[in-house]
Amino acid sequence: MENKSVFEMILSGDLKSDIIYEDNQIFAIHDINPIAKIHILIIPKKKIATINDLSIDDIDLIGSMFLCAKDLAKKFGIDQSGYRLLFNTNDDAMQTVFHIHLHLIGGEKLKNI
Ligand code: 5GP
Repeated sequence: MENKSVFEMILSGDLKSDIIYEDNQIFAIHDINPIAKIHILIIPKKKIATINDLSIDDIDLIGSMFLCAKDLAKKFGIDQSGYRLLFNTNDDAMQTVFHIHLHLIGGEKLKNI
């Protein structure tokens, strides 16, 4: 059997992390190593290793992740000040967890990318 991703371990309770949002398809947690005052990860319950592995069946899932991100941006008070959403994919982008996740980053002035 394939190893569980760190996010599957959090979801199953094997690894401790406060789940700040959950529905039947996705959940969200604070990043353990935040790069800004607000750094949240929005994660599908279904394990998809990278964005390269997305299929047409995942369109609703990806849409839900973005809707969740904008709702959390509002909940954490950064919807008007601004925020960044990103997926890292593979080595050059320094993806470290091979279970896709949308980073929601803000709460302070971010450097240009
Ligand atoms: P990536 O580099 O793959 O785009 O992002 C993975 C993110 O997951 C990193 O920002 C890292 O800090 C975060 N992360 C890794 N392990 C854990 C963990 O056990 N708990 C939480 N909350 N975040 C984690």
